[in-house]
Amino acid sequence: MGIPVFVFAGLLVHCVFLASIFDIYFTSPLVHGMTPQQTPLPPPGKRLVLFVADGLRADSLYELDSNGTSRAPFLRSILENTGSWGISHTRVPTESRPGHVALIAGFYEDVSAVAKGWKENPVEFDSIFNESKYTWSWGSPDILPMFAKGASGDHVYTFCYTAESEDFGAQDAAKLDTWVFDHVKSFFNSSRSNQTLYSALNEEKVVLFLHLLGIDTNGHAHRPNSREYKENIRKVDEGVKEIASMLENFYGNDGKTAFILTSDHGMTDWGSHGAGHPSETLTPLIAWGAGVNYPQRVASQFFEDNFLKEWKLENLKRLDVNQADIAPLMASLIGVPFPLNSVGTLPLEYLNNSAHFKAESMFTNAVQILEQFKVKMTQKKETTLSFLFTPFKPLSDSEQINLLKKTRLYIQQEKYDEAVSLCKTLINLALEGLSYYHTYDRLFLGLSIAMGFVGWTAYVILVIIKTHTNLTKAAQSHDKESTILLYGFAFVGLIIAFFLLIQTCPWTYYVYCLLPVPVWYAVVKELHVIQDLAAYLLSLPVGQSMGFLLICALGIEILVFSFFYRSTLTIGLLVFAGWPVITQLWVQAKTTALIWILLCMLLGIFPLMPVVGREPNIPLVIATGLLTLLISCSSLSSLCKSKNKYMNNEDLKVQFYQMLSIALSTYVVSSTHDSLQNKQGLPVFNQIISWTTLVSSSVLPLLSPTFLFQRLFSILLSLMSTYLLLSTGYEALFPLVLSGLMFVWINMEQEALQQYGLSLKPKLAVFNFSYATDIMQFRQLHLDDVRRSFFFVFFIVTAFFGTGNIASVNSFDPASVYCFLTVFSPFMMGGLLVLKVVIPFVLVSCAFEAVQVTTQLSSKSLFLIVLVISDIMALHFFFLVKDYGSWLDIGASISHYVLVMSLTIFMMLMNGLAQLLTTKKLELSRKTKHHST
Ligand SMILES: [Zn+2]
Ligand SMILES: [Zn+2]
Repeated sequence: MGIPVFVFAGLLVHCVFLASIFDIYFTSPLVHGMTPQQTPLPPPGKRLVLFVADGLRADSLYELDSNGTSRAPFLRSILENTGSWGISHTRVPTESRPGHVALIAGFYEDVSAVAKGWKENPVEFDSIFNESKYTWSWGSPDILPMFAKGASGDHVYTFCYTAESEDFGAQDAAKLDTWVFDHVKSFFNSSRSNQTLYSALNEEKVVLFLHLLGIDTNGHAHRPNSREYKENIRKVDEGVKEIASMLENFYGNDGKTAFILTSDHGMTDWGSHGAGHPSETLTPLIAWGAGVNYPQRVASQFFEDNFLKEWKLENLKRLDVNQADIAPLMASLIGVPFPLNSVGTLPLEYLNNSAHFKAESMFTNAVQILEQFKVKMTQKKETTLSFLFTPFKPLSDSEQINLLKKTRLYIQQEKYDEAVSLCKTLINLALEGLSYYHTYDRLFLGLSIAMGFVGWTAYVILVIIKTHTNLTKAAQSHDKESTILLYGFAFVGLIIAFFLLIQTCPWTYYVYCLLPVPVWYAVVKELHVIQDLAAYLLSLPVGQSMGFLLICALGIEILVFSFFYRSTLTIGLLVFAGWPVITQLWVQAKTTALIWILLCMLLGIFPLMPVVGREPNIPLVIATGLLTLLISCSSLSSLCKSKNKYMNNEDLKVQFYQMLSIALSTYVVSSTHDSLQNKQGLPVFNQIISWTTLVSSSVLPLLSPTFLFQRLFSILLSLMSTYLLLSTGYEALFPLVLSGLMFVWINMEQEALQQYGLSLKPKLAVFNFSYATDIMQFRQLHLDDVRRSFFFVFFIVTAFFGTGNIASVNSFDPASVYCFLTVFSPFMMGGLLVLKVVIPFVLVSCAFEAVQVTTQLSSKSLFLIVLVISDIMALHFFFLVKDYGSWLDIGASISHYVLVMSLTIFMMLMNGLAQLLTTKKLELSRKTKHHST
């Protein structure tokens, strides 16, 4: 395989691998084609009023003020005297859209929407609004249209303020709610002079939906403990009271109106939502009016949280529900069919109705969920060969019929309690079965993807062995054999394609299942390499080869773990510290080994430090600046003393400039933060110096001599001056310690090379980067080079997670860019933060470049090893992708995966940059050059 073909194949495999997670993990669970199910008995209500107070926390509504009164007196009196109350438990992600979908359509929105960005309706779905005769809704343009759009026909009406005019709530977000209340009132007023509207309003199965965004907006702006948030709750309470009495008037107190008040999600103390903290997932639910149970007095009740006591509600029965249960509750109150995709269970205790009605409703609920199960099963059955199909055993066809029959019989015999409990069993089984069929293909697809990827990795390993080691003998190719092999694999491919064809699989399945065929063909074709490798491995002592594999596996596990727990890096670094002790190096070079051990331990401290929520520590940054100056002074003096003949005045000048730049950076950091603390803003002079330093630091190293240590030191000084400007605390020390370790590493690798008896050991002190490329003769790979590559990957990952978590941008403090700009500008800030992240990589990459050239390793073979390491890691993260949990969890699992997949490309880029930084030399002016020669 030529190089372009190899690169192309690699890219293809990686792209397929990357895209596959969206087919495997993030697919819509919804099915279509069920028949609507409706309770045959007359419903208690004719109309339903749904208030959703966006972002209202349960405790904010129920708790009492410091003076013992409720901030929502109307709602408090409802739950004390006329209605039922409880907590509605939402699922993550606690965002507005999935919250409303759970409330109104009764299902938890699928994560496939992650890929589609939640914006448009990613899937068609049925809702209470769609099943109603008429729905009128008022509120935010972000929420209402999605239910109107999905509805069939023209019976869902929306009244939104436009997104632009949302500004009227800029000063006081509660105005968003007043807008809604006012519009509802004037709407009903206008209906008195509009006969069509009036009669429509008097129909049965009418829904009025009031979406109140004010509380959410106030919570984001001022946090839930603010006066604004609490005052907004009071406003909403008043509004609800007015609407309720207006409606009772309008309908002449006919007792046919049911009311429900809840919220889509809560909010954390710091004004955010999306994750799974109780403050976000506990939302209030208060129901009253037609068909709703009166308060039930109890002597005591037990809940794990201690809220009841705090809220002084110990004696009123608290009825908790899951958020999706509210949809069937609303459906049964006004007698509309349950939304087709609803997975909610009717909360019977909220109902004030006959036992017969409850049992019938529960039966409808069970049949409705069972319908989804049946459709899902049929779909799977149709697309699977019958002898391969494994049905969901606990709910076979006969079992379904049996359960349904039994329930019917119980209802006829008026054994309603038995009927209800049987329905609950049926519902649970059907839900289990739904998720069973939803993830039915996951294992099979996952395995075939893994097959392809393992094959690819094996192939890369074979290529390394074949082209960069002397393990294999010159192989003679047998034409006949390889033709048979080709036909064999083509045949297997055809069989797979045929199987997929008769199962009418989507086209992507063909890609996932057929990809392993050519990949494994390429592997098997290199059979002789495998044989040679096996022979070599067998010739080694068993303990040694097993030990090697074990160490490889452990090393990769440590890398994978470090993505989740940064402290794993510390363990890895401690193991690194032990490296010279285990090997000969300790005897060989005691001082170097000792420094190595010390620096490893020192660097191991960084991953233990917290990333977020730390206070700036400017004195530490200044101390680091001074330390850097001290180090460069001593290096300068030692250079002068040694009277290095390779050194000239020009080079000394460059180093002097760099030291000046470090000193200036240190000054700018301290003066900027002083001035910001005194609220005097960022001085223009400082800003100019900062930007100049940033620009000059990329050029200055290119002016320095290309001798190994001088060039590397110059790169460090330049990057350090920029890094200091971007630091606010202990992280300023990180590049310094890191590059200390890197310097020692270069020396250590030299020593390690001696073990292999390589005579060509270049003298490091006079080693020149710019000649390295010419005189280089690449050597064959050793097993030790695997360790070398692993060290490189490990140091890169340490650079990733040493001072922050690259997977989430918000772990970086915006205060760190204050020397450059103070006005909010996301692109600039993002760019600077990326720069801050990249600097440690550049240091590691340059050091590795040095290791590469001094140990005469070809960068190509080395990248193949790195590719193998990162691919094995990627395979790990493939199985760790999450399709449940909070926004953050899902996002992080995807970004880890993408990060590892792009690691190789990133390292190649870094390597190119490092080569440029180490080998290029700019001449300042020809004139001085003439003088000196
Ligand atoms: Zn919301
Ligand atoms: Zn919000």
